[in-house]
Amino acid sequence: MPGPRPDLNTLAKEHWDLLVIGGGVTGAGILHQAAQLGIKVVLIEKHDFAWGTSSRSSKMVHGGLRYLKQGDLRLTRESLQERERLIQALPELVVRQHCLMPLRRGQFPGRWAMTLALALYDLLAGVRDHQWLPATTLQARVPGLDLAPLTGAMRYSDAMTDDSRLVLRLLHEAAGEGGTAMNYCTVLSVSRHESGEQQVRVRDADGTEVVIRAGAVINATGAWADQLSGASPRVRPQRGSHLFVPADRLPVEDCMTLINPRDQRPVFVFPWEGCTCIGTTDLDHRDDPDREPRATDEEVDYLLSLANGYFPDAKLVRGDIIATMAGVRPIIASGKGRDPSAERRDHAVWQQEGVITVSGGKLTTFRVIALDALVAAGCLSRQRARQLRRAAPTFRHADRLPEGLGHPLKPWPTGERLHQQVNWMLAHEQVRHLDDLMLRRTRLGLLHEQAGDTVLEELRPLVCQQLGWDEQRWHRERDRYLDIHQRAYRGAPA
Ligand SMILES: Cc1cc2nc3c(=O)[nH]c(=O)nc-3n(C[C@H](O)[C@H](O)[C@H](O)COP(=O)(O)OP(=O)(O)OC[C@H]3O[C@@H](n4cnc5c(N)ncnc54)[C@H](O)[C@@H]3O)c2cc1C
Repeated sequence: MPGPRPDLNTLAKEHWDLLVIGGGVTGAGILHQAAQLGIKVVLIEKHDFAWGTSSRSSKMVHGGLRYLKQGDLRLTRESLQERERLIQALPELVVRQHCLMPLRRGQFPGRWAMTLALALYDLLAGVRDHQWLPATTLQARVPGLDLAPLTGAMRYSDAMTDDSRLVLRLLHEAAGEGGTAMNYCTVLSVSRHESGEQQVRVRDADGTEVVIRAGAVINATGAWADQLSGASPRVRPQRGSHLFVPADRLPVEDCMTLINPRDQRPVFVFPWEGCTCIGTTDLDHRDDPDREPRATDEEVDYLLSLANGYFPDAKLVRGDIIATMAGVRPIIASGKGRDPSAERRDHAVWQQEGVITVSGGKLTTFRVIALDALVAAGCLSRQRARQLRRAAPTFRHADRLPEGLGHPLKPWPTGERLHQQVNWMLAHEQVRHLDDLMLRRTRLGLLHEQAGDTVLEELRPLVCQQLGWDEQRWHRERDRYLDIHQRAYRGAPA
C-alpha cells in the first residue's frame, strides 16, 4: 500500500537510489517498475496521489483512433499492445468495452474507410473485433439515438478503467515490491552535490523541510514538469472537460464515439461506474496548475449540445449534470501553433543538470513511459527495457487490496460493503482529507447528487473514528471538500 504515511525525517536519513517527483500514473508507474527491479525508490507527491491529470482523464485504456487518423502508427500500436496486456493483467480494473462510432450520410471517412482503419487497429492490437452495424440494429442497441442522419455504426473495442484507482493499484504494487510513496509533500528544488548525488528539498504540509539524498531524480510532474526540469519550457497544458449525468437520463451500454459535425472532433459518451460520462473538450489552459481546473460554461454547452444532437429525446439540460470534471493534459508542444486537438500525444524524456524529466503521453502507456524514464536515469539498460516492454506486466499483490475496487463498469457498492471498503482505504491509503476519499479513493463525489452529501453523512462516524477527527475537524474537512466540489466539480445550476 502507499500508506501508512511515512515520516519525512526518516526518509531524509536514508540514501535513495532514485527519487520520483509526482504521484500521477507516470510517477506511480516508474515507482512500480523501479521497485520491481530492486531499486531503492521513493515517490513524493505534492497534493494527493492522482490529484493531477491522472484522476481526470477520459478513463480509457485505448489505442486511440485519432492517433491512427494522425498517422501516428507507433503510438497507436504501442497503446493497443499495452491495452491488451493490461486487460489480461488487471481484469477487474481494465475492462474491455465495446465502442460504437455512428456514421452520418456523406461523412468521410465512411463505412469502407472506417472498416479498413479498424482492421488495421485490430491488427496492431492482435485481436479481431470490429463489425458494421446497420441503422436497424442500432435502434435496439442504442435507444434514443437519432437514426435519421445515420447510415449505421462501426463497432470496435477498447478498454475502460478507473484512472485514480489505477494509480493507487500501482502504488500498492510498488509497496509490495519495497517502494515508498508519500502524499502532501512538495519538492521545492533539486540540486546536484559535487559528489554527484542529488539533493532534493522537500516540504511537508505542516511546514517541515528536509533534504532527501538520491542517486537519481525523475521529475514526473506532468503539466508542472517545466517548473522543476531546469530546462526551457516544453509543456503546452491543455484542458479537457467531462460531464457526469444519471444513467437513466442518457442510457448507453457501449462507449459512443460521436463525431461533432461542427468541428469533426470525437466526443465520447460512455457508461462509467453507474453514470453516463460525456467528454471531452480540448483547449489551451493558462491557469495556475495548482488551482483545480474546472469546466467552463462554454465547455458544458458544447458537450450538452453534442449529446442532444445525437440523442434529441434526452433533452439534457444543465440541471441534469451531477458533476463536471476537468483535467489538464501535459502535451509536449510542437511549437508549430497547431490547433490543440492536432498536437501529438506522445511522451518525451529530457534531462538537465542530472534531473530527468518525463512528461506527455497517455494513461494507457504508463509502463512504456516508465521504462524510457528509467533508461534515461541510468537505472536500466536499453536492451533490458526492450525485453520488459514486450513482456506481460506483473502485478503480484492483488491480495493486498479488497476485491473489485474501481471496476469501471460497476457502480460503487452501498451499505456494509461500501463501509468495509472505506474502512480499508482509511487504514491503508494515506487519506488526509475528505476530498481524497470522495474524489480519488472512491468516486462518490462525481457520481452522487449534491456532491454525495448523503453518503458523506453516512460515512462520518467511520471516518472520524478511523482518522481520529473530532467534530471541529470533521466540519473543517466537510467545508473544504464542498468548497472544492463547488469550485471545480459542481453540477451546473439548472
Ligand atoms: C481530459 C483528458 C482526458 C484524457 N483521457 C485519456 C484517456 O482516456 N486515456 C489515456 O490513456 N490518457 C488520457 N489522458 C492523458 C492522461 O490522463 C495523462 O497523460 C496522464 O494522466 C498524465 O499523468 P502524469 O502522471 O504524467 O501527470 P499527473 O497525473 O498530472 O501527475 C503529476 C503529479 O505531479 C505532482 N506534482 C507537481 N509538482 C510537484 C512537486 N513540486 N512536488 C511533488 N509533486 C508534484 C502533481 O500534484 C500531480 O499529482 C487524458 C488527459 C486529459 C486531460
